[in-house]
Amino acid sequence: MTTFSELNLNKKVYQAISDMGFEEPSPIQVQCIPKVLEGLDVIGQAQTGTGKTAAFGIPLVEMVSTAKPVQALILTPTRELAIQVAGEMRKIAKYKRVKTLPIYGGQSIGSQIRALQQGVQVVIGTPGRVLDHLRRGTLKLDKLRVAVLDEADEMLDMGFIEDIEAILRETPSDRQTLLFSATMPPEVKRLSVRYMKDPVNVTINRGEVTVPLIEQVYYKVLERTKLESLCRIVDSEEVELGIIFCRTKRGVDELSDALMSRGYLADGLHGDLSQAQRDRVMRKFRTNDIQLLIATDVAARGIDVENVTHVVNYDVPQDPESYVHRIGRTGRAGKKGLAITMVTPAEFKMLKLIEKETKGKLVAREVPTLADVAE
Ligand code: ADP
Ligand code: MG
Repeated sequence: MTTFSELNLNKKVYQAISDMGFEEPSPIQVQCIPKVLEGLDVIGQAQTGTGKTAAFGIPLVEMVSTAKPVQALILTPTRELAIQVAGEMRKIAKYKRVKTLPIYGGQSIGSQIRALQQGVQVVIGTPGRVLDHLRRGTLKLDKLRVAVLDEADEMLDMGFIEDIEAILRETPSDRQTLLFSATMPPEVKRLSVRYMKDPVNVTINRGEVTVPLIEQVYYKVLERTKLESLCRIVDSEEVELGIIFCRTKRGVDELSDALMSRGYLADGLHGDLSQAQRDRVMRKFRTNDIQLLIATDVAARGIDVENVTHVVNYDVPQDPESYVHRIGRTGRAGKKGLAITMVTPAEFKMLKLIEKETKGKLVAREVPTLADVAE
């Protein structure tokens, strides 16, 4: 068992990690932190919820100096993740005079420009907005030491490959590059081959893609009575804090309206909402003012909210990888979670494919009858 003190961290960083309540490093952190500190390019692959952020965040804060230019850039797929990663970086950098700044679309560019002018060492951003700043000349990456591609599989899924390449071209070629991903599809491998130098691979739990602490079940339902079935499932499973996934933005709106009108503490999250609306919904979810967050895949990517007890697939995911990402929103940091998939007869084939690809077994449960729920 390796401890944080054995990793020879700077006192200020060590103290900050203790304040965060981290007692010992997770396996991906044990392996990544020393290699990143050595200056190596690292590819880190581990399941969601295994602490990949701190695996790069801790050594980054160690390495950056308090000098003016931007020294580290972290690219994330979504605004929510940029905010979340920036929050974790800020905590790690608490005792060091290192400034971190999230930059993402939907937020006023003027305030970001002012913040950048004041001097920032670590920028955390979504590819589109980072590129925007580069083109305006309001962000300079010519002194960059480390580039991090966080949740690389999701960034590529979302079509950011060209933006990422354009950004990397603006950085020094002798930079250090780190890439983190839950899965390693061929496009991510190709990216690493093109932009990394002799990367070291750190893989945790090879071949086992789902987190063992997540119990997985499915319910056979009918399209016609799906909403009714969901309500019964939510009641009987005692969902305390749950994310419910729908396939479309419209599906999210319809389902959140239907649940709210039935008295559930619910709200929806998808890409057509304004940034202010999205922030408000996430805040309510984090503070447990809403219990059910209804979301599309894209909106919920990478979101880390403590104590999510349930993930419900109201619509079956489109592919096994999306299933793994969705259910990874629960069972985080060693906590238990339940993943529920609702399956109509037409979706049954996809359920079988998911079981096959994830080498998992989903246990069948019966939708409770009205009498069961009323008990
Ligand atoms: P990933 O990027 O692998 O999906 P995160 O970096 O978002 O996972 O971490 C998941 C949760 O675990 C976060 O809430 C984070 O603060 C927490 N965490 C990370 N490392 C540790 C640790 N060593 N000890 C305790 N909690 C940790
Ligand atoms: Mg992550």
